[in-house]
Amino acid sequence: MGWVTADAPTRSELAACIQCGLCLPHCPTFRLTGMESASPRGRLLMMSAVAEGYSEVNDVFDDLMGFCLQCRACEVVCPSLVPFGRAMEGARIEIAAQLASPVRRFRRLITGRWIGIPWVMRAVTRMARLVQRSVPARFLPPQVRTSIGGLRRLPKRPASSVGSTFTPIGLSGAGVAAVLAGCVMDPWFGDVHTATVEVLRRSGYRVVVPDGQTCCGALAAHDGDAQGTRRLAKRNLSAFASADLIVTDAAGCGAHLKEYGNWVGDAGEILASKVKDVTEVVAEAIADGRLPRLDVPRGKVAMQDPCHLRHAQRIVAEPRAVVAAAGYEPVEIDEVGMCCGAAGMYSMLHPKASRELGQKKADQVRASGSTLVASANPGCEMQLRGHLGGAYRVAHPVELYWEALQAADPTR
Ligand code: SF4
Ligand code: SF4
Repeated sequence: MGWVTADAPTRSELAACIQCGLCLPHCPTFRLTGMESASPRGRLLMMSAVAEGYSEVNDVFDDLMGFCLQCRACEVVCPSLVPFGRAMEGARIEIAAQLASPVRRFRRLITGRWIGIPWVMRAVTRMARLVQRSVPARFLPPQVRTSIGGLRRLPKRPASSVGSTFTPIGLSGAGVAAVLAGCVMDPWFGDVHTATVEVLRRSGYRVVVPDGQTCCGALAAHDGDAQGTRRLAKRNLSAFASADLIVTDAAGCGAHLKEYGNWVGDAGEILASKVKDVTEVVAEAIADGRLPRLDVPRGKVAMQDPCHLRHAQRIVAEPRAVVAAAGYEPVEIDEVGMCCGAAGMYSMLHPKASRELGQKKADQVRASGSTLVASANPGCEMQLRGHLGGAYRVAHPVELYWEALQAADPTR
């Protein structure tokens, strides 16, 4: 039957692959299995076979595409600039369109609808808090054990920052920064939002967290829900219509917003051109002297690069500049930035592979000799904390900078 949707991988996306194999050693699923069908090249070949009519979208195709982490490590090293992430999103949309099932429909409800409804997220937060406090990790199913074990201590009544405005402190005139609150970031990672807002204010920005915004749609996109992804994107287009700068403090959300053009055309391109990760904005303010470099030495911090920061957004130097300005010595744990195995819902859908990758990343942190880890993405943070245990602290780079700023001058 071939492809049936307009979002399918295109001929030019697939033809760009010259089968050189340079991506293979960088692909976590190929490294885990040694199988060509679990490599970027193999996956692109299978997509081409469907496009040319030699194969079809069936359960085998679903399994092989579903095993991909969508980490995009392959894109960074590809000499032919194959847009693998876009092609894989297209393949997942085809799978969702051609292999409808009750499970898939239920997942679509979660990632395309419920995740964008604040009261649903509050109810989920209350449930997760109850589980976090009352069920020992060993009794939890393996699919959620690491995620629940890796949660920050959840608040009883999560406060939302949506609809808030904050004036600049000290400096002014940097303009207005509109912050994406996100779906899980808002109820589960309030401390990261606080650090983001406070550091932006001290960089001279007026900070707004616009009303009417919703989940960025990354989870829906990764699951092949084109309709849900576009619905969420359109809500954000109108919520952020008047923004000149859109700031995210979750790498996965930033990467997806920067590719809104793939989903909602020109309006999406315009929004994408205004998006920056908070580490980009803060590093810029440190470089031009709006924020200070703090010279009290604070020890080592192991740097974990979320795939959607390092591979999708190509941001590597900025988180290091931010923690260094806070007085920390950034320690490299993985020169190639292999995925930690969190990857959105991957830990639930492929718990074994996710666990193996999480364990490898935890071992790299242990080898660094640091008990503090900087990570700029909520999923990676939970995965790391879940594997490292309570003796280690995992925090966002901007949180570390905000804490150092407060310690240097509590009146700031
Ligand atoms: S996105 Fe990641 S897991 Fe998927 S093929 Fe590329 S490197 Fe491998
Ligand atoms: S590096 Fe690029 S061109 Fe080479 S096999 Fe991988 S995807 Fe294809």
